[in-house]
Amino acid sequence: MNLTILHLYPKEMNLYGDHGNVLVLKRRCEWRGIKVNIIEHNIGDELPAKCDIIFGGGGQDSGQQRIAEDLRNNGKALKAWAEDGMPTLLVCGIYQLFGNFFKMQDGVTIEGISVLDIETEAGDKRLIGNIVIESGKFGDIVGYENHSGLTELGNDIKPLGKVTRGYGNNGSDGAEGVFYKNTIGTYMHGPLLPKNPRIADFLIKTALERKYGAQKDFEKLPDKLEQKARKIAMERPR
Ligand code: GLN
Repeated sequence: MNLTILHLYPKEMNLYGDHGNVLVLKRRCEWRGIKVNIIEHNIGDELPAKCDIIFGGGGQDSGQQRIAEDLRNNGKALKAWAEDGMPTLLVCGIYQLFGNFFKMQDGVTIEGISVLDIETEAGDKRLIGNIVIESGKFGDIVGYENHSGLTELGNDIKPLGKVTRGYGNNGSDGAEGVFYKNTIGTYMHGPLLPKNPRIADFLIKTALERKYGAQKDFEKLPDKLEQKARKIAMERPR
């Protein structure tokens, strides 16, 4: 078996080791004997005709401005993939741009690609620190956030989880991220997947099911170190 990961804008969107998420996906596939091909999409590149998992990381406002036009040029294909159930992980800056818009502190608005019905406006303080959320599907999720953007969800889109420590989407309604079809949007860096292997395996297993059918024998990994890392991260003060 083999999977292709499409990594969006690794040059501009790679804060706090977000690239590590791709390494985790690759390694967890390889431990199971699944071959991985990584396609990096940078500004001006053509999207591949096919892929199995999509990942995009966080970036500063300036990076978001640089990629916005290219992202919009590819918005139709990315939206079609999301609607079709493509397993996708979007962190912070790219999460915002998969929404309707991100209005920056100076009032300039970056139009997004409206894959997710969310809207983001920069607030006047940065929301920074360790974060833990409770999610029905993946249990507790632990990470680190650093954003000024305050994100509101539309009526028909569900958050990824409820904040137990930290700020989340906007610091006021207790919601963090989104979970839409198989697309996960989140403010959680860290990177996210090393400490949250259940999410990594959700992306991998969903990709395998879409490509090869039911995965009854999907191998469980021991995750001893991962569990230790989670525990330590979850006990960190905010
Ligand atoms: N520039 C965005 C914000 O501050 C995204 C930051 C990020 O990706 N960490 O809200």
